[in-house]
Amino acid sequence: ARKPFITGNWKLNPQSKSEAVDLARGIADSITGESPSDVALFVPFPYLETVQGIVGDKLIVGAEMITPEINGAFTGGVSPCMLKSMGIEWALAGHSERRTLNKESDEDINKQCKMLVEEGMNVVLCIGESLDEFEKDLVDAVCEIQLKKGLSEIGADQMSQVTIAYEPVWAIGTGKVATPEIAQSVHKSIRSITDKMYGSSVAESTRILYGGSVSPGSVDGLLEKPDIDGALVGGASLDTTSFGRIINFEV
Ligand code: 13P
Repeated sequence: ARKPFITGNWKLNPQSKSEAVDLARGIADSITGESPSDVALFVPFPYLETVQGIVGDKLIVGAEMITPEINGAFTGGVSPCMLKSMGIEWALAGHSERRTLNKESDEDINKQCKMLVEEGMNVVLCIGESLDEFEKDLVDAVCEIQLKKGLSEIGADQMSQVTIAYEPVWAIGTGKVATPEIAQSVHKSIRSITDKMYGSSVAESTRILYGGSVSPGSVDGLLEKPDIDGALVGGASLDTTSFGRIINFEV
């Protein structure tokens, strides 16, 4: 059985270190006793060490992106090795905001995924279709392309380091959460693509998270579905009460 995985992506928030400290403390406090799921927070680089210090014994802290290089002339870059040396072992790759705003291609994203797994780190590969692609019924096709390209040259033996997040772009930050039925159908299709790529044991053990306007009101219905193994939460991960309720989802 796949252990549920609830993850938060703070994006470019909060605006100060003191707010990050308060938020991290609040989230840590909402994890009481043995959590039924793994929990991770993906936070801005400047807060990584502080947040890790506050919540590190209770949950995973990861980076929102990496620069897939060892070292050298890459101004502004942050490499997997740097993160690893700070005790950070997780990162997101392929978030739709980086695909659109920073023009990251599937090839760029593949380079990030490969470098993370080669460094012994873990990656959450984000995929998902735009509204236009959704309306044209291209959801499964887009997910298949992004998965195959994103995971190119990553072997079955490395897939334990990979989590997949399905985030339909039309659901991100819009309040328009996918229905559990729509999300389940895409997750099932993603699992069958994973099966074709890596075989059934990898497909059955890979966690597939849903992201896009997840809230305390929608989390239970989503997590009830057999192929939805967790959530990647944006806005609601910035509110301790909301994120606390999402972590402690009820199915
Ligand atoms: P929202 O939960 O704010 O829609 O953001 C989802 C997301 O992009 C998480 O990575």
